[in-house]
Amino acid sequence: MAPTKTVVVLGAGVAGLSLAHFLVSRILPEQPDLRVVLVSPLTHFYFNLASVRFVLPGRGPPMAEDRYLFPIAERFAGYPHADRFRFIAGAATSLHPESNSVTVKPNDEAKEEEIAYHTLVIATGTSYAGGMPWKALGSTDQTRAAVAQLQSQIGSASSIVVGGAGATGVEFSGELGAAYAKKGLKKITLLSADPLPLEPRLKDSVRQTAKKELEKLGVEFVGGARMVSVTPAAGGSGSSSDKDKKDIAIEVTSADGKTKTTKTVTADLFVPTYGVVYNTSFAPPSMHSPASPGRLLQDPDLRARGHRNVFVLGDAGSLEPAQAVTAEAQARHLMKQFRTYLAGGTIETYYTPAKDKVMFGLTVGPDRGTGQVGTFQPPSLLIWWLKGRYLGTNHAANYAAGIGSSNGAWPK
Ligand SMILES: Cc1cc2nc3c(=O)[nH]c(=O)nc-3n(C[C@H](O)[C@H](O)[C@H](O)COP(=O)(O)OP(=O)(O)OC[C@H]3O[C@@H](n4cnc5c(N)ncnc54)[C@H](O)[C@@H]3O)c2cc1C
Repeated sequence: MAPTKTVVVLGAGVAGLSLAHFLVSRILPEQPDLRVVLVSPLTHFYFNLASVRFVLPGRGPPMAEDRYLFPIAERFAGYPHADRFRFIAGAATSLHPESNSVTVKPNDEAKEEEIAYHTLVIATGTSYAGGMPWKALGSTDQTRAAVAQLQSQIGSASSIVVGGAGATGVEFSGELGAAYAKKGLKKITLLSADPLPLEPRLKDSVRQTAKKELEKLGVEFVGGARMVSVTPAAGGSGSSSDKDKKDIAIEVTSADGKTKTTKTVTADLFVPTYGVVYNTSFAPPSMHSPASPGRLLQDPDLRARGHRNVFVLGDAGSLEPAQAVTAEAQARHLMKQFRTYLAGGTIETYYTPAKDKVMFGLTVGPDRGTGQVGTFQPPSLLIWWLKGRYLGTNHAANYAAGIGSSNGAWPK
């Protein structure tokens, strides 16, 4: 039987890639009229969770690329029904839910392609402004190049200012602190817009712990500080080592919020860790959340609001905080519901307010960390054991194979 229904999955991150593997290996054998199309601008799965560590050049060679970049297409080639799977290295550019079609621009072709779908899954996640490799860039090569550039810049800098003290900024500063500041090799400064690092949804004690752990590693934490501009440094000796120095103007608000002062920090390198961009501009405005700009409205059953045959998973959706644990949980929920959905049955709700419980683990250098589970603050040793030792690279190949942290167990 020739396939008549196409399931299109946009995005090959934690959410989209695992769902695509499940559909091809479990659903295609049962559904001869189905085919699956996976669209991703990267030909590789990028395990960005460890980026805060692998962007450091390391004392010997940097972390091997095959621990965080995994080819996508060849993993699908071994499935018995691979003839009904198509991988497009490209990006969705516009979505037309009224006609059940999505326009895709393949990386290597000038012409766009219109793909009609029976079901669409949007899992296009986020990127970072300024080409920072905290998440994937526009292609595997661009991502690789951004990692290599940052490694080289970090290697040659004597002083580094990190802008933004969210989880990425704290984890990255922690890695820099452990590798360099603690040993007196480089000066590391972290600028935080809030008086404390991390998000206000976390307990103050967790945020205080993160600050103290950074300071133990020799990182200078500047709270209440906003970066105003980064310009080539004025003055200097004119020597080649001074040539690339930057003047980073920052506005510092006093702890009581009453006064603002401007000061300038001079450093060799400024690394922003803020500027999350939701990769959803291809979707019509009606699908966007007014409350969370950039994110797409998700119903509690993970459908896009108002569209029965469109699902939204992971960071691109508006339901939950942008975390891999939630992206994975959402993808696994849809796996469990997919047969019922195809049969026209009623699928189960994913989201309940009980899911609002905070679940957060943060490394501060390879040896320490903090976090929050509900209201409980796990000890540093537990975070190190669960996360900091490998930063998930021990599970990265499983994520690339679509089985995530479940050790091979897919929903039946
Ligand atoms: C430095 C860092 C560390 C983190 N550590 C943790 C952690 O320890 N624990 C945790 O739970 N979370 C962590 N996170 C968050 C985690 O990375 C994300 O929540 C997770 O990657 C979301 O997965 P996703 O599949 O929704 O989206 P993404 O991982 O963003 O993947 C989106 C995919 O869509 C593709 N894409 C983009 N645009 C298009 C388009 N137009 N068409 C088709 N495809 C497109 C992308 O190339 C990519 O393949 C971390 C984030 C950062 C930045």
